[in-house]
Amino acid sequence: MALYRTEGIVLKTRNLGEADRIVTFYSPTKGKVRAVARGARRPRSRFVSSTQMFAHADFLVFSGKSLDNISQVEVKTSFPRLHEDLVKLAFASYAAELLDAMVEEGGESGESAGNEAIFGLLVSYLRALSDARDPEMLTRAFEIKLSSILGYRPVLDSCARCGAAHSGGEVGFDPEAGGLVCGGCLGRGGPGAVRLSRGAVEILKRLLQLDFDRVSRLGAGPGTRAEIERAMRAHLDFRLDRKLQSLEFLAAVKAAPGGGRKAVTPE
Ligand SMILES: [Zn+2]
Repeated sequence: MALYRTEGIVLKTRNLGEADRIVTFYSPTKGKVRAVARGARRPRSRFVSSTQMFAHADFLVFSGKSLDNISQVEVKTSFPRLHEDLVKLAFASYAAELLDAMVEEGGESGESAGNEAIFGLLVSYLRALSDARDPEMLTRAFEIKLSSILGYRPVLDSCARCGAAHSGGEVGFDPEAGGLVCGGCLGRGGPGAVRLSRGAVEILKRLLQLDFDRVSRLGAGPGTRAEIERAMRAHLDFRLDRKLQSLEFLAAVKAAPGGGRKAVTPE
């Protein structure tokens, strides 16, 4: 059995047996890790706060034959504001599930370069989301930046099918081609291709370039937001082999009166 220490952010928790919890967290050095926190569901457990969603903590882990075991945890932050606002909670849960779905469990092979970039992206996103007035655009930025780090950076500068420069005519997003396509290629594109306005294309480019704190200042109307959401959904779903459960929660929260903000008060 080997013992290792790593920081991580909790992406998922699942109950195990009577009182245990399986925690999936993302580490800058180990990638995605799944480990058991023994007794974590007992009220006085030392693991209660450290096994909550989005907890950023230092973990001491025993790697066992089958599942790893968490031996000690020290929480750095639990991003409390994400748990106090239903809209932010829904977006953060979606981002965590997306990351969980898009990366394989880390092993000892170590792909640390990519992992550190992903970890850094996740920390900055959760931090920005805590203060955000525009959680939706921040999350779109998280989607496009995450797919870029993972090697699926959408082609935005020229047609992803024929390579032609975008000349100002009609343009679309074709998930199969991996980015923007010209009007001609859009007509011949796959069933998942969606039409995009010039405004939406400009915002997509900014989402890829800008830091999270500047993303919140991008003004985009509801129509443009819907276009960007459709394009990114198509881009990500093309790479995912399952539908993300958190999307339903997110849709329900967004459809609620006041965008879900009034529903946070506990009974
Ligand atoms: Zn083309």
